[in-house]
Amino acid sequence: MYKVKSFAFALCALSLTFLFGCQDKTLHKDSRLMMGTFVEVTSPDKLAKNIVFQELTRVENLLSKYKPGSEISRLNRLGKLAVSPETFYILKKSQEFWKLSDGAFDITVSGLVDLWGFTDKKYKVPEESEIKAALKFVGSQKIIFNDEKNVVEFIASGVKVDLGAIAKGYALDCALKKLKENNITSCLINIGGQIYCLGDRFGKPWKIAIQSPRGKDFVDFLELKDAGVATSGDYEQYFVKDNARYSHILNPKTGYPANSGIISATVITNNNLAADALSTAIFVLGKEKGMELIKKFPGTKVKIIDE
Ligand code: AMP
Ligand code: MG
Repeated sequence: MYKVKSFAFALCALSLTFLFGCQDKTLHKDSRLMMGTFVEVTSPDKLAKNIVFQELTRVENLLSKYKPGSEISRLNRLGKLAVSPETFYILKKSQEFWKLSDGAFDITVSGLVDLWGFTDKKYKVPEESEIKAALKFVGSQKIIFNDEKNVVEFIASGVKVDLGAIAKGYALDCALKKLKENNITSCLINIGGQIYCLGDRFGKPWKIAIQSPRGKDFVDFLELKDAGVATSGDYEQYFVKDNARYSHILNPKTGYPANSGIISATVITNNNLAADALSTAIFVLGKEKGMELIKKFPGTKVKIIDE
């Protein structure tokens, strides 16, 4: 039968209350379940957590396909919608990453994600005929943009979008903007493994641990300051059936879970939206093509763990 495992964090922020010499330097830490994952905020500033949670809630209400009233849910239902400039921007960005990744990153996998049961957590291996049928609605060229009116339209009914591979990165960018507007210069935000280290931690870099995709150990440690990290891995959400492992990141060309040989791709940059989209794309593309893609983003680093 199905064995399901879901890890909330690929990356763990190593942050507690630290004592420096005789001086007590306190970090305020809070966590909440939101955006389908565990969100953790750590900062010397008491106000940081509320600012971040509020902004993430706003973005989630706009972009989540799990919220019936979100613009994305309405667009998925109606097939054509005049959307906010923000939703328009992120949909256009998604199409840009689809082009750049040669179709590996594709938000129109939504129907396939549903079919495999990753949306309602009722996992199943679909029939080949079902996958073939769902693939007809996949392909980001099927999204048409009217720039003057902010109207987004799908060229066929049945096309749907899922921003699960890019929304967390965008939400992080939005939260950071809010923190900076409020003059908060030190904060660590972890949205289920999508992390940003704003400033430093009492003069020292924030420490991030990369968790082993196949256990509870840490395989690497990063020391970061004003940088973001995104990881896509086959251990985040998957099920096992008849000894085969099926993960939530799908290859839009085949309709099956990606099997590029990569089990975890970590991207480090200060553009969180890009980090999120790129880590998903690299996971689908594999090591060689993934490294080619990263070359188009100077200053971006990648850590790949393969089988
Ligand atoms: P991430 O953890 O950022 O790699 O995002 C994975 C999520 O994005 C999945 O749970 C799906 O909702 C969605 N997704 C799956 N495969 C793809 C893909 N090839 N391109 C874009 N989104 C995808
Ligand atoms: Mg992603």
